[in-house]
Amino acid sequence: ALDAQALWQKDRDHFIHPFTDFSVFLEQGCDLITDSDGIYVQDAKGNRFIDGIAGLWCVNVGHGRAEIGQAMADQATRMAYFSTFNNLSNAPAAELAAKLAELAPAHLNHVFYSCGGSAANDATIRLVHYYFNRLGKPNKKRILSRNNAYHGTTYLAASLTGIESNNWAFDTLDHLVTHLSEANCYRRPEGMSEAEYCDHLVQEFENTIAEIGADNIAAFIAEPIMGAGGVLVAPEGYHKRMQAVCRAHDILLIADEVVTAFGRLGHVFASEAVFDTQPDIINCAKGLSSGYAPLGATLISDAIYEVLGTPQRKGGVLSTGFTYSGHPVSCAAALKNIEILERERICENVREVGPYLEQRLKTLSHHATVGDVRGSHFMMCLENVADKETRELLPVEARVGDRVAAEAQQRGLIIRPVGHLNIVSPPLIWTRETVDRVVAILDEAFTATTASLRK
Ligand code: PLP
Repeated sequence: ALDAQALWQKDRDHFIHPFTDFSVFLEQGCDLITDSDGIYVQDAKGNRFIDGIAGLWCVNVGHGRAEIGQAMADQATRMAYFSTFNNLSNAPAAELAAKLAELAPAHLNHVFYSCGGSAANDATIRLVHYYFNRLGKPNKKRILSRNNAYHGTTYLAASLTGIESNNWAFDTLDHLVTHLSEANCYRRPEGMSEAEYCDHLVQEFENTIAEIGADNIAAFIAEPIMGAGGVLVAPEGYHKRMQAVCRAHDILLIADEVVTAFGRLGHVFASEAVFDTQPDIINCAKGLSSGYAPLGATLISDAIYEVLGTPQRKGGVLSTGFTYSGHPVSCAAALKNIEILERERICENVREVGPYLEQRLKTLSHHATVGDVRGSHFMMCLENVADKETRELLPVEARVGDRVAAEAQQRGLIIRPVGHLNIVSPPLIWTRETVDRVVAILDEAFTATTASLRK
């Protein structure tokens, strides 16, 4: 049995947790998650919770899949690791690359591996720079991203990230990145229709290109639905119009599908199936292996690959990559994960249960703090406000997101607080019955939160 007390002590004394408020952590200690199974996780005290965040937007096929564990063990025992640099390779990396090419939009047939989402975005920008250099356009360097985007925390990915509170203590690579406005329909300028708002955002993009010069811009990167920045769904037609602007100016479109790929919106990739766009590059991680092993992948168009990789364009070595690019154990996990996703028709489940989740979460709008319920399918968010009319926020010290999450956790459900928001991004195997249980818990959690705020 685990000695929970001893583990808590070791953790508190030695483990630096990511994205953690030390004052809160040192006071409260941590919650040791020790076991998991399907839609549930369990802590060291024996409390069982419904997982409402899929680990961290990633355990898409659910917890405790013995066959993924077995595939990883088999690969680790047979050949746990060897380099993929130069002309070395391994079977799972090759199989997975071919599988991803089959699943991705038709023009994306080439895969560059990394170890997670940040590293995938970072590597992507290096590939893009390499591409334009080989084309003889070395000035095309700048990347346009968006305020409140989340693209990770390596220095370059953190610079692409547009969440100010993440970066206040760090430098950002401002010579490489310019941020546009995010598409936030709930907080769009007053009096603007959604269609006008879309025009306004596209115009801002055009103006920025005119200012910086298309000759200096390499790419535009965007999440199809902005995740950690608040599950922001862009106005109808936004992505397609942004793509058209990119195409008109020889600017590559990069879709960061780290969260949206592998089923969260009901399709393996969301860009084409949901938003009718054909990005030049799609990045994925998280659901690619359902979090069973660290893995990221950058899917590259044939047109880009032709410049990067064909023998006709000799000269230069693609000097980027990681020791663990195409790690055999991670790729074996991803292959089994994708097999499960297909065999159990998990995207179909999301398409069936997702709209029900949206509809049931919207019934929580009558609670005093719930100003907006938004998102799509298994990517949802509740925005807490002080005043629904003015959309004014509660004071930060009220820690409303934390309160709601704590009330839910006491009742057996883990959801994610992000400032004044609460994010629901479950494993993709939730059923209608799970949704009903979750909404009943959230109903109580919001009632309790409202009562505690009035005290
Ligand atoms: N991109 C998006 C859209 C993400 O949501 C995340 C993580 O949440 C990342 C990139 C970074 O991924 P990782 O934490 O695996 O580096």
